[in-house]
Amino acid sequence: MAELMDAAVMHGPGDIRFEQVPRPQCPEGGFVVKVEAVGLCGSDIRNLTTDSRKGDYPFIYGHEVVGTVAEVAPGVDKYRVGERIYVYPEAHCLKCEYCRAGQSNQCVDVESYVTRPGGFAQYIAYTAKRVERGATFAVPEGIDPVRASLAEPLSSTYACAENIDIKLGDTVAILGAGPIGVNLSILSRLRGASKVILIDLNAARLEKSAPFGVDHTVDSSATDAVAEVMRLTNGRGVDKAISANPSTAGQQQVIEMARPGGTAVFFGGVAKGKLAEIDSNMVHYKSLWIYGHYGASSIQVQKAFELAISPQYPADEIVSHILPLSSINEAIELTRTGEALKVVLQPNQKEQ
Ligand SMILES: [Zn+2]
Ligand SMILES: [Zn+2]
Repeated sequence: MAELMDAAVMHGPGDIRFEQVPRPQCPEGGFVVKVEAVGLCGSDIRNLTTDSRKGDYPFIYGHEVVGTVAEVAPGVDKYRVGERIYVYPEAHCLKCEYCRAGQSNQCVDVESYVTRPGGFAQYIAYTAKRVERGATFAVPEGIDPVRASLAEPLSSTYACAENIDIKLGDTVAILGAGPIGVNLSILSRLRGASKVILIDLNAARLEKSAPFGVDHTVDSSATDAVAEVMRLTNGRGVDKAISANPSTAGQQQVIEMARPGGTAVFFGGVAKGKLAEIDSNMVHYKSLWIYGHYGASSIQVQKAFELAISPQYPADEIVSHILPLSSINEAIELTRTGEALKVVLQPNQKEQ
């Protein structure tokens, strides 16, 4: 009989069970990682609470993985047992048109994390394809695995800030004060923005996110966010307005907040099939750039990892809760209510 391990298994929307499942076998030409830290992402919450897989359950999510190599298939010399690595969830082919153009986030042959069991488990297996493609990074001695796991959510924000070229003197409005909004604030500051405005419906979340390079916070449950952004920019609007939350209303709001000739960004994904209603005339008359952002290119993934493990990045302040995997449902609740800014789970730590 196969050895068992703990995992947080999704049986349906909102039905996440902490249970024992067979520990994955080491695939031929692949390797197995013992998960030390796995972040709970906004996209995980969306996936775990809605029917993103259209009934295809049970499934194990978890894509912000840092761990130690536990097993290596014969003939694989790229990894050694005991080595600590951060594994980016998507392995780009680096051969297709998009990869070669520096847009590997659109790779046509990506090995996506939604096709194989993820890291909300004690162990996760990777195939020979992953060995060949890499997108794994050695975590230097002395770097906390929890900190290293933040490289994944940082990568997409790093890529977004670079792609829309947030620059010296820019005014930036960010809708959504979760870890993504916090990262975008930090990156805006690092890139020289003159004013960062962070907006959220949840006052608790807003309060936790305010210390990260934010000049103004706007509680959109109590204030008209668009009017407030206009007031804060003397009626001009911001250079870059980013919707970093799962609502379509936010997508309309960034169009209203962006200055003429400015950039409106759809960063956060919305529930599958959900359509947005936007004022296209406003896009037209204001000559707006609308940019949809997803993921990061291969080199941006690497640069974001380097930033995440550097002292420039305030990882310890961002992680509000470190919990055992058995607390995953609590972690989802803490994140949803805004009580937690960022939860990182440790599947191999037992409850104290
Ligand atoms: Zn993530
Ligand atoms: Zn590719």
